[in-house]
Amino acid sequence: MSISHALGGVPLIMAEFIGYLFDAIILFATIRMLYGALRHVLEPRMAAGRTRGPSAAAGGASDVRGEMARDPVCGMFVSTELSHRLKSQGQTLHFCSEECLQKYRHKQRVAS
Ligand SMILES: [Zn+2]
Repeated sequence: MSISHALGGVPLIMAEFIGYLFDAIILFATIRMLYGALRHVLEPRMAAGRTRGPSAAAGGASDVRGEMARDPVCGMFVSTELSHRLKSQGQTLHFCSEECLQKYRHKQRVAS
């Protein structure tokens, strides 16, 4: 066969092995891509949780990265990149939704 020739005298078995390896890598990459796409679709909904969450996640090009912060109102963890932020006493608070943010603000107003 000419494959072994093209690879500069690599035995045919090696060429076949490399072929299999390529197949495996492509398969692996495909699975990873599918998994990534699936995660991308599912995660914003999970973050939204019980309350109606932000629809901002739809159409986001990049993966969800960054840190997780605890929503002080409902206690769930939200990505600091997708959260609704509120600067309070020098620190930034993260909320899962506009609702939680408003609840927190209301609570602060009542307390003080
Ligand atoms: Zn919340």
